[in-house]
Amino acid sequence: MKRILVTNDDGIYSDGLSALASALESIGEVTVVAPATEQSASAHSLTLTRPLRVRRLGERQYSVDGTPTDCVTLALTKLLADSLPNIVVSGINYGPNLGDDVTYSGTVAGALEASVFGLPGIAFSLVTRNKFDFTHAAAFAAELTGKVLATGLPEGTILNVNVPAGPIRGARLTHQGIKIARSEIIEGVDPRGRPYFWIGEQQSSWKEDEGSDYAAVALELVSITPLRTDMTDYRALEFLRNASELQLNG
Ligand code: MN
Repeated sequence: MKRILVTNDDGIYSDGLSALASALESIGEVTVVAPATEQSASAHSLTLTRPLRVRRLGERQYSVDGTPTDCVTLALTKLLADSLPNIVVSGINYGPNLGDDVTYSGTVAGALEASVFGLPGIAFSLVTRNKFDFTHAAAFAAELTGKVLATGLPEGTILNVNVPAGPIRGARLTHQGIKIARSEIIEGVDPRGRPYFWIGEQQSSWKEDEGSDYAAVALELVSITPLRTDMTDYRALEFLRNASELQLNG
C-alpha cells in the first residue's frame, strides 16, 4: 500500500485538509502532519529561532506549531523516518495559488519541501473566494495523486494544481503566469489607540497569456503547473552571458 503524507497551510482544522485526507484514504495510507494554526503566505519558511512542538492528535495525525515546511521536514526526518511516504500532498488551499502568488504560498511550499527530500509532491488549491465546497476538488486530487504515484514525476519536480469550484470540466498543463496587482492596504486604529496597517485582498488581474495557469482557470479548467525549487532564470543566464557590457572573468 502506498503511503501518503498530507499537509497544508490553512492549519490542521481546515475543511480543505480533511476533504483531501479523506479522499486520499481511497488510494493509500494517509498520515496528516499539518500546522497547528493558519500559515497562509508563509512561503517556504523554516522556523529556526524557537523550538517546535508536535502534538499527536490521532494514530496518523499530528499538528506542529510551525510552517508547512516545518511539518514536512519533521515528518520526513523524525515522525515518518522509519517508513517514508511515497508522495507528499498539500492542500486543499482556501483560494487559488496562481502566477506570482506561488512564491508566497505555504501550500506550494509544503509540496516543494518534498522535492528537497527527493520525493514527488503535489499542491492543490480551490479557485474560489467564497462558497468553499471541496467535494469535486478532493475527488480530482485523489485521481491525480493515484496517477502520479503510478507514473512518478521527474526528480525535483512538483505539481501546482488549481481546481475551479464545481464539477471538473477538464484539465490542462500550464506555465506560471504573471500577476498584475497591488495589495490593498487597510489602515485603522487598534483598541489601544495605536495605528496599524493590514495587507488586504488584492484587486488582481493577469497578463494575457494563453498557456498560463490564469488562462486555464479562466476557462474553468484545472491548471497543472510543474514547478521546482531551482529559481534560475535560464533565459536571463543566456542573455547575460551574451551581454557585451557584462564581461566577467571567471
Ligand atoms: Mn492558505
